Amino acid sequence: MSLSTSVATTNKPRFDWTHAEVKALFDLPFMDLIFRAQTVHRENFTPNEVQVSTLLSIKTGACPEDCKYCPQSGHYNTELKKEKLMEVQKVLEEAALAKEKGASRFCMGAAWKHPSEKDFPYVLEMIKGVKSLGLESCVTLGSLNDDQAKRLSEVGLDYYNHNLDTSAEFYDSIITTRTYQDRLDTLSRVRTSGIKLCCGGIMGMGEEQKDRVGLLRQLSLMSPHPESVPINMLVKVEGTPMENVDDLDTFEFIRTIAVARIIMPKSHVRLSAGRHGMNEQTQALCFIAGANSIFYGEKLLTTGNPEADKDMALFENLGINPEKREEHSDEAVAEAIVTQAVKQEESKLFYEASA
Ligand code: SF4
Repeated sequence: MSLSTSVATTNKPRFDWTHAEVKALFDLPFMDLIFRAQTVHRENFTPNEVQVSTLLSIKTGACPEDCKYCPQSGHYNTELKKEKLMEVQKVLEEAALAKEKGASRFCMGAAWKHPSEKDFPYVLEMIKGVKSLGLESCVTLGSLNDDQAKRLSEVGLDYYNHNLDTSAEFYDSIITTRTYQDRLDTLSRVRTSGIKLCCGGIMGMGEEQKDRVGLLRQLSLMSPHPESVPINMLVKVEGTPMENVDDLDTFEFIRTIAVARIIMPKSHVRLSAGRHGMNEQTQALCFIAGANSIFYGEKLLTTGNPEADKDMALFENLGINPEKREEHSDEAVAEAIVTQAVKQEESKLFYEASA
């Protein structure tokens, strides 16, 4: 049976995809590719369920890295308002609100090259607090050393986000202050410490299809695969070197999601940044192609995101249910916040962190 008609799939993930095999998937007729991706999706997940995460920027801007797509980089002149590390209590209030709106995971992002020893204890408290609300926790803090990965694991962090962004070959055109290998090293430390991985990339940065193939293949070689694979569409921000880069064809973006679904069958594939610029029909096609995770809420780090109510209306229209996890009563949530507040008072863990 040819690749174009074969939908025979297996629940067993593979870790030996070749570049040629991944490229052959991209080259399938669109309908065959989507059919195959949806088939794999149904073999591995409950159909019509999408995991919902909320993302909060806990420290914004003035990042020493030079990622050319990022308005938070201190290397570029964007309108972004810089903010120091948020207070633990404020973060937990946002987390409780996200839970109320239906999020099952709360992701906290800090624009750092790596976390400093001064700030790190505050982040650990945030993770503990988020977990006590009954939410899964995820952080993205830049590069980690072995000790930091271990301490994150000890407080029960569920996911660490660290993206590869693009292929190894195209990477140097995007970032010069941190190498591809640096990223792989942090990912390996996170994995060794027992934390789940959230790792993906950004499409539409002027890369070629071979780079999208290269990125997805690189992710698929990780054993186990990252549990969460964010596929972002570049959000072009004025003042960044990528503000005028050519648009990526929407079908090529949907193909990228479909290929990610096929080669990493058990991972949550997240339709991530850039969703704001997509109409509902495109988002629906992404779900059909196997995307089963979104960020929702009003802000996605520093770029806009469709509002939560609009997302819920789309879910209803398409018959999608948010993926559920452990439920806590409102009283339990309120109590968790108060407990954290008291603990902070007692430990004098007040906000003193600087950017
Ligand atoms: S490391 Fe993160 S926050 Fe810093 S410039 Fe790169 S993408 Fe932006």
